[in-house]
Amino acid sequence: MIALTDEQKMILDTVREMAREKIKLRAAEIDEEQKFPWDTVKLYSENGVLTPLLPEKYGGIGADYVLFCMIIEEIAKVCASSALILIAQADGMLPILMGTNQALKDKYLPGFSQGKLAAFAATEPGAGSDILSMKTRARKDGDHYVINGEKCFITNGSVADVISLYTYTDPDRKFKGMTAFAVEKGSAGLSYGKNENKMGMRGSINSELFFDDMIVPEENRIGEEGAGAANMMAALNTSRAFTASQAVGLAQGAIDEAVSYAKQRVQFGKPIADLQAIQFMLADMVASTEAARLLTYQAARYLDEKKHRQVLQACAMAKFVASDTAMKVTTDAVQVMGGYGYMKDFPVERMMRDAKLIQIYTGTNQIMRLVTAREIFRA
Ligand SMILES: Cc1cc2nc3c(=O)[nH]c(=O)nc-3n(C[C@H](O)[C@H](O)[C@H](O)COP(=O)(O)OP(=O)(O)OC[C@H]3O[C@@H](n4cnc5c(N)ncnc54)[C@H](O)[C@@H]3O)c2cc1C
Repeated sequence: MIALTDEQKMILDTVREMAREKIKLRAAEIDEEQKFPWDTVKLYSENGVLTPLLPEKYGGIGADYVLFCMIIEEIAKVCASSALILIAQADGMLPILMGTNQALKDKYLPGFSQGKLAAFAATEPGAGSDILSMKTRARKDGDHYVINGEKCFITNGSVADVISLYTYTDPDRKFKGMTAFAVEKGSAGLSYGKNENKMGMRGSINSELFFDDMIVPEENRIGEEGAGAANMMAALNTSRAFTASQAVGLAQGAIDEAVSYAKQRVQFGKPIADLQAIQFMLADMVASTEAARLLTYQAARYLDEKKHRQVLQACAMAKFVASDTAMKVTTDAVQVMGGYGYMKDFPVERMMRDAKLIQIYTGTNQIMRLVTAREIFRA
């Protein structure tokens, strides 16, 4: 379905080798110890894939969305947490790239290819699905803004060098009153709460952020006042294609494990791969993963082709189909492997825990169906 250039194939080969030979070996340990893999960040940076979407003029490789989704998929096959680091990096970088503030782009974008980390901060304790009800406020005071509020669950939050932060400058105007800022680590008034102890994706960090009269210079405003919500929605759309790719990778990784196990595990005198019950389960797993993959590539292609009318629905559908598929496929992979699948000696139990998150973040799958239904019935 997708024709890659020789250069894109080479990038993907490098990522595949890195995933199989390095990232895979760390996956169980970072999950068990809930440890942020700084060595993997360094590996990404050294291989030019920490921020693949970054244009070449800012030091990136200028990957398109399809290639970036394939990169995420390759990494998620062996470690979804490590893929999440790349997703959070893109989510934090894209609001600046998509914004209109050229000086801000020149200031921060080059750093994202050199090991600096980014984060995307919208969610608050009282504002999840209902994101427009956020309470964080920014008040203009001379040549800077004073920001008060808090964010939660922010991926890469406490390790990010730059955070794309969403606030209201004019809450009465709702969508048109939101403004985004690039906030540097170390800003006066920025502090960190707990890093969450999670069910899955335990190799990534999710933090509480607090803003107490935090001072942000005017030049760090991403775009105009009031342009924040449109910027946030655009970034969220792309992120749904990324998390769909992560789900496809997870599902494929679980299939690979289950197939290899089924060929070796002997019961009743023959490999369980010879049992029709196992074969049918795997047939469903492979077919549904392939369908999710095609939907995800289609969403990524619409993003590349800037087909704005199709993007919203395509990204939402890819996200809920792929993550529901990953949840089912990883659960079935545990089933194929019986009691061994339930043990931490094999990766499929981790994959099942990791898959659950993808049904929740970047907009829950209920909200994704709501978005899809709205588009279906739009006049
Ligand atoms: C590990 C992790 C990482 C995250 N990373 C980030 C990040 O980097 N940056 C960031 O900004 N946010 C991040 N989030 C936040 C994430 O996007 C939100 O958790 C998600 O949008 C859901 O919000 P909520 O948790 O408040 O759930 P709620 O909105 O409270 O939803 C609870 C339940 O109600 C359902 N529901 C709510 N409203 C409706 C409706 N109108 N129709 C039907 N059902 C509805 C939901 O589907 C869900 O089942 C992260 C979350 C997690 C868990």
